Amino acid sequence: MTTASRVLVLNSGSSSVKYQLLDMADSTRLAVGLVERIGEEGSRLVHEPLTGPGAGGGKRERPGAIADHATALRAVAAELAADGLGLDSPELAAVGHRVVHGGTRFTQPAVIDDEVLAEIRNLIPLAPLHNPANVTGIEVARSLRPDIPQVAVFDTAFHSTMPEHVARYAIDAATAEKYAIRRYGFHGTSHAYVSRATAALLGRPVEDVNVIVLHLGNGASASAVRGGVCEETSMGLTPLEGLVMGTRSGDLDPAVVLHLARVGGFSVDEIDSLLNKKSGLLGLCGDNDMREVLRRAGEGEESARLAFAAYVHRLKKYIGAYSAVLGRVDAVAFTAGVGENAHQVREAAVDGLAELGLALDLEANAVRSSLPRLVSPDYARVAVAVVPTDEELEIATQAYALVTR
Ligand code: ADP
Repeated sequence: MTTASRVLVLNSGSSSVKYQLLDMADSTRLAVGLVERIGEEGSRLVHEPLTGPGAGGGKRERPGAIADHATALRAVAAELAADGLGLDSPELAAVGHRVVHGGTRFTQPAVIDDEVLAEIRNLIPLAPLHNPANVTGIEVARSLRPDIPQVAVFDTAFHSTMPEHVARYAIDAATAEKYAIRRYGFHGTSHAYVSRATAALLGRPVEDVNVIVLHLGNGASASAVRGGVCEETSMGLTPLEGLVMGTRSGDLDPAVVLHLARVGGFSVDEIDSLLNKKSGLLGLCGDNDMREVLRRAGEGEESARLAFAAYVHRLKKYIGAYSAVLGRVDAVAFTAGVGENAHQVREAAVDGLAELGLALDLEANAVRSSLPRLVSPDYARVAVAVVPTDEELEIATQAYALVTR
């Protein structure tokens, strides 16, 4: 008899579903794919089998109308079945769902029953763009395989260990309580994975290692992790707080919002859109992709240089702040699209921080690689690491651990 060891990981967004099928017996990927523009013109599925007869043939693109998430998941199931990896397989142990907001209720992954699903729905006001799509993904996957566990893995859970005085904003306590206003943090699966992988890279037990993790993708967040436990993170009630991001402002004086409303006559939705979609690198220079920003800055374009400098300055402030929070830092780990690829960002962020124990091996830093690696000289008190994140593997690992324990 074979033991079921496959986990399907679903990351359902408002108009997309990203998925990976993994075999947890040896942590390998069996298939990966994406359905995008669900319910819009130009919807398509891109599927790549990594095992079986279809493997090696690259990506299969399936353009065609995909009206909703249910249709999308059925199309995914059909693609997997064509590769002999169908969802009806007895080898499928669980479906792991990325759920963005777990509020204060979910500090661990949870096997989804009606009560858990109702709680995830109750949290929609805290994540109006994300949790509804997550709920839909869960409902559809449940209807396809009601007999196997569906596991919710929350973006916020890793940060639930933040001490109360760190998680609380200094506002009226009753108001904060009434509206569940506190710092939750996001990108938790990435911060968890990368902080552990950094300890492994240093060859030390995770309990002994203090790491500042810089997750720099389109969204970006920093965390201070002491011995594998999160002590502070830069995103807050929503993913808007903290670092300068692709299209989000990160930290700003809250009175900017009042000023825009009072003086500019902006509506709530207009301010939401301005700060989440039209700010950050995009707001400063017109491009949200760091590759473009670097190219234009390299050509001496002033607004791109300003955007790069603002991005890096904010990063430095957080490295300094989290060095103070942790007291002793063993490593600063860069991850996600920008962190893994943009050596210029790493160089500029670490530059001038020798007093904090940071130094960079410029040659090692400039080498491109998809492997976890150290880019600091041996003498540096604080190691600088580049650690590719793997949120899907982390979700699958957590889901599998829960259903097999
Ligand atoms: P997401 O947050 O959407 O998961 P990623 O972690 O994939 O994003 O990061 C995407 C971002 O990474 C891109 O917008 C781009 O700015 C940046 N990026 C990717 N490759 C490079 C590169 N070679 N150099 C600089 N930046 C890069």
